[in-house]
Amino acid sequence: MARVFWFRRDLRLQDNIALNEAIDAAKQDGDGKVCGLYALNTDTFFDLSGIRQHSLVESLAALGATMAGKLVIRHGNIAQSVVAAAVASKTKTVHATRAFDPAGVAEQNEVGLALKAAGIHLQLGDSYYAVAPGSITKPDGGPYKVYTPFFNNWFRAGWSAPVALAEGFDWCEPLECQGRPKPTADSPFKVRAGEAFALETFEKFKKRALFDYDELRNRADLSGTSHLSHALAFGEIHPRTILADLADSPGHNVFRKEIAWREFYADVLWHNPQSVDQYYEPRFAKMAYDKGKTADAKLIAWQQGQTGYPMVDAGMRQLLATGWMHNRVRMIVASFLVKDLHLEWQQGAKWFEKNLSDFDPASNAHGWQWTAGCGTDASPYYRVFNPILQGYKFDPDGNYVRKYVPELAHIPGKAVHEPWLLVDGLIHGYPAPIVDHAVERDESLRRLEAIKVPKS
Ligand SMILES: Cc1cc2nc3c(=O)[nH]c(=O)nc-3n(C[C@H](O)[C@H](O)[C@H](O)COP(=O)(O)OP(=O)(O)OC[C@H]3O[C@@H](n4cnc5c(N)ncnc54)[C@H](O)[C@@H]3O)c2cc1C
Repeated sequence: MARVFWFRRDLRLQDNIALNEAIDAAKQDGDGKVCGLYALNTDTFFDLSGIRQHSLVESLAALGATMAGKLVIRHGNIAQSVVAAAVASKTKTVHATRAFDPAGVAEQNEVGLALKAAGIHLQLGDSYYAVAPGSITKPDGGPYKVYTPFFNNWFRAGWSAPVALAEGFDWCEPLECQGRPKPTADSPFKVRAGEAFALETFEKFKKRALFDYDELRNRADLSGTSHLSHALAFGEIHPRTILADLADSPGHNVFRKEIAWREFYADVLWHNPQSVDQYYEPRFAKMAYDKGKTADAKLIAWQQGQTGYPMVDAGMRQLLATGWMHNRVRMIVASFLVKDLHLEWQQGAKWFEKNLSDFDPASNAHGWQWTAGCGTDASPYYRVFNPILQGYKFDPDGNYVRKYVPELAHIPGKAVHEPWLLVDGLIHGYPAPIVDHAVERDESLRRLEAIKVPKS
């Protein structure tokens, strides 16, 4: 009897333990056939930016190609799609990788119930992580709230070696495949995705930047990071495959620690599912945030990279142009939204979700909450990033700003970080700062003071 494998955020064939389990079961059941399915949620897909839509289409195209075109894609309600594919292939078991984020858990619960009603079993296995969320706990059994002890324990726990795709099976002939979705928005950027591209990206990063990663990863103007976040978020590469290739050197060790941040945030979200869109530290919900027309206008200026702060605007425009933003710049723009514009972190996180091709529910929610000072192991709220000084430090020659903000391309060197100081700085239409950073910094600290818990 055939088995169905429901691909989710694990769009690859190699090092896919849940897929191998489906293959082994199909071989034991007799006919050795596995039907590969992707269920597209059309309610959410068309709300995404053009880059995100194209990027999923590329991922599906690449996956389909590695399956000799035998990937079935169904559109609409996910549970109905999975049940329909399972019934059409006459299977009694659907296999999938277990999700740990709230939406993924709700989705697999709904699919499990719908399948059960049709007399079919949903078999979940493995996870999108080297160490499954929830499996590393403090000695008292509670979840970790601080990264470093989590990391130490995570590293000690270790993970299994990568596994090759199991052999001796056939993909089913695709039944009632609706094909890849047609994006409704254009992508300004030529998106590349898929398992082969992920492995190629990793190989190039190992040669290009892994050795110096500890030194260069914060420089926005250099290509000092891996750019593997999309591949990790969509499971085109499993972290096991990456971790297995790391040695013991400063660059490798810091890179391993960044992979562990992804695992830490997944663990935190698993234990605190409400923190996907609510304050991890509830007292921050009581803080005063700006609302109304002026606040809405500031949000739009931030989204479009029109705040008048070059480093913030370069980041926001990099996001619109490429679907990705450098980590250091994500922190700068997030701090600016919350502490200079006094908007809520969820407003920024939603914009990131729409536009980031590496969108990941745990890393996004907790990257925002860390920067906003309301998350676990967070940067303290009173640490307000100065967008000008951050520019001088992490884009020292101004190349990053000039690349993404053409109205400032005429300004040489680091002077680009304060164009308002130059006679001709704003002549090409770049806006003056929409707020005064020094004033807003004090204002945000004043608002913090109002929610401080009095010392007993
Ligand atoms: C406000 C904010 C929002 C973010 N939203 C996301 C998101 O939606 N999806 C996402 O994958 N990352 C997110 N991050 C984390 C980080 O910015 C990206 O993972 C990183 O920039 C991706 O580039 P890279 O692959 O070149 O990273 P590298 O520096 O090469 O790191 C390798 C991998 O480690 C993981 N990683 C690195 N830094 C972090 C981190 N701080 N937190 C969690 N994982 C990390 C990523 O999977 C990354 O691909 C966010 C950070 C902030 C501050």
